Amino acid sequence: MEEKTYSGFVAIVGKPNVGKSTLLNNLLGVKVAPISPRPQTTRKRLRGILTEGRRQIVFVDTPGLHKPMDALGEFMDQEVYEALADVNTVVWVVDLRHPPTPEDELVAKALKPLVGKVPILLVGNKLDEAKYPEEALKAYHALLPEAEPRMLSALDEKQVAGLKAELLALMPEGPFYYPEDHAKSDQTFGEWVAEIVREEAMKRLWHEVPYAIATKVEEVAERENGVLYIKVVVYVERPSQKGIVIGEGGKKLKEIGQAARKQLEVFLNRKVYLDLEVKVYPDWRKDPEALRELGYRA
Ligand code: GDP
Ligand code: MG
Repeated sequence: MEEKTYSGFVAIVGKPNVGKSTLLNNLLGVKVAPISPRPQTTRKRLRGILTEGRRQIVFVDTPGLHKPMDALGEFMDQEVYEALADVNTVVWVVDLRHPPTPEDELVAKALKPLVGKVPILLVGNKLDEAKYPEEALKAYHALLPEAEPRMLSALDEKQVAGLKAELLALMPEGPFYYPEDHAKSDQTFGEWVAEIVREEAMKRLWHEVPYAIATKVEEVAERENGVLYIKVVVYVERPSQKGIVIGEGGKKLKEIGQAARKQLEVFLNRKVYLDLEVKVYPDWRKDPEALRELGYRA
């Protein structure tokens, strides 16, 4: 007998700087599954996938909710509404260190039409640094009384685990959107980065050098200016392929690097310096040792 599975979409919304990215990263933990931001629809971008047992959450981004100040008039806009209407749960993040601002009011307003359609969890964040958390939460809750309030610090593992369990439990019965092993693979950080670079390279080179590309992270270093330095080597099989990957005047490699860096910065929520180098590893695909070295099981 097949066991039931549960899956759904969760949107994390809130004004800038309240801790949405931090919360998302910590909800995903090491199980983060990098997905290129190929939009499923123009309005919804994938941010990450969480699979635990028979339950899966696909976290999505709702671009319209990031800059509510830009357009008060357009804010109640159909697009935002539609983007949110087909998620299974909304997580509305607020900053408990301060009382609500007009920006929070706008977010609350945008969520209003969803009341009764999807659960809205009001997550009071930064509990660790809040002087009057109860009072602050009450003030936020008053903006949308139908939301279900709770408090936490996105930096606190246990508290985030509690929210995670709650979200997983809210997912309706349904098939997984992504294969289980996709999200479950325990990639190392290096493998994850290498895969993103490879993906961006393949996208741009698949006519010219199909399958001949492998990528490997050679160095990861914290820079004093807060930038994360990552050196990735792009391996090709033959000298002739090296020029193709680099492109005229380095143009191709630059494109690959820029696209990969963008992805990394979104997922890591920080500045990244991505240093790409192209090297020839003769016939690496036929060499068991090379395969092992490059992270493929020989
Ligand atoms: P976003 O703009 O909503 O995605 O917010 P970020 O996740 O980028 O977080 C903004 C800032 O708040 C960062 O400096 C985080 O480190 C910090 N932050 C996030 N969550 C917490 C928390 O629970 N406690 C504290 N003290 N700081 C937090
Ligand atoms: Mg963010």
